[in-house]
Amino acid sequence: MHLSQRITNITGGGSDGWDLFNRARAMIANGTSVTELTIGEHDIPTHPSILEAMHKAALGGHTGYAAVPGTDELRETVAARIQAQTGVATTAANVMITPGGQAALFASHTAVCDDGDVALYIDPYYATYPGTIRGVGAVPRPVAARAENAFQPRAEDIDAAAVGAASLLINSPNNPTGVIYGEDTLSRIAEVCQRHDMWLISDEVYDTQVWEGSHLSPRALPDMADRTLVVGSMSKSFAMTGSRCGWIVGPESAIDHLITLAIHTTYGVPGYIQDASVFALTQGDALEREVATPFRRRRAIAQDILARQNSVGLIPAQGAMYLMLDVRATGMTGEAFAEALLDAHHIAVMPGESFGAAAAGHVRVAMTIEDRAFATSLATLCEFAETRASQTA
Ligand code: PMP
Repeated sequence: MHLSQRITNITGGGSDGWDLFNRARAMIANGTSVTELTIGEHDIPTHPSILEAMHKAALGGHTGYAAVPGTDELRETVAARIQAQTGVATTAANVMITPGGQAALFASHTAVCDDGDVALYIDPYYATYPGTIRGVGAVPRPVAARAENAFQPRAEDIDAAAVGAASLLINSPNNPTGVIYGEDTLSRIAEVCQRHDMWLISDEVYDTQVWEGSHLSPRALPDMADRTLVVGSMSKSFAMTGSRCGWIVGPESAIDHLITLAIHTTYGVPGYIQDASVFALTQGDALEREVATPFRRRRAIAQDILARQNSVGLIPAQGAMYLMLDVRATGMTGEAFAEALLDAHHIAVMPGESFGAAAAGHVRVAMTIEDRAFATSLATLCEFAETRASQTA
């Protein structure tokens, strides 16, 4: 039977970038012990106090259909958080709750792209971006943020790609590079969006994982609130990846239509998950800090290890739970390096190429295992790179 182009073409016919990850998982299933530094999943479970709030809400009866746009309480809580972050007046009417950030990305592109519209995104990128854009019937167009610019996107490159584009998707703090966009970069991006009358979709799911500098949302920039859709999530900030709770914040007119879309797609997010999210978001920043601290610590451990060698370069990661390592001195592609490291030492890292051509010759390391094992694995990775580099020299 025929299946639609829309669904069969989501990956664009190429690899979905997860080959190495799947091979590592297959090795584990066959009983091999593999150190996984692949995906962005915390090594701690959701905090018991959040689970208690969830349990209480479910036992209290919040198990039926929840309000499709999100509960008033959660929408108000998210609005207050975004208003405090941006200084821009934000009410519940500017917020729609979604089943995680991914659903928010899909819905946001659905809201702003017509069939065949070009949607820009920055390369390197989170693996689902081009597929999300294809999934809504739009055409993904990458704009490279180059290693030699420390993976900061340049406004002139976006400008050159923007002719006829409906939207631009950015992500700061960035997965996979850990880079944070400063006010300068964001202001230039905002100008380009205004010049080309583009929507800006700002994926801010790592906004609580900031190790250097500070997080700035483009919603805060002059005249940007009306053309920006902010994507947020409970996943990374509260170790709630499995709970599937996120949001879109944007102009009320867009949110109104997004609610209609949700009525016809997700039909909302479970009420007990939303209640637990309200609980989590109203605990002050202690809980968020507790979730972020292990990554901050491991980043410092990594900086220490990497400072003592010169075969692996570290892109100065300012945020998020990843390190982007430059392995070009080994003469290998990121893919070849990751494959060889998995074979030789049973350490799984993601090839940079999985995140786009701009990350070729790099690997992404998720800082998602316990400190000592993390330090040992990273030291092994460096020794491995050193051996390979000396063979190349
Ligand atoms: N955006 C980025 C940049 C991500 O890394 C992820 C998850 N890894 C998501 C969005 C989606 O997260 P979730 O759907 O769990 O909120």
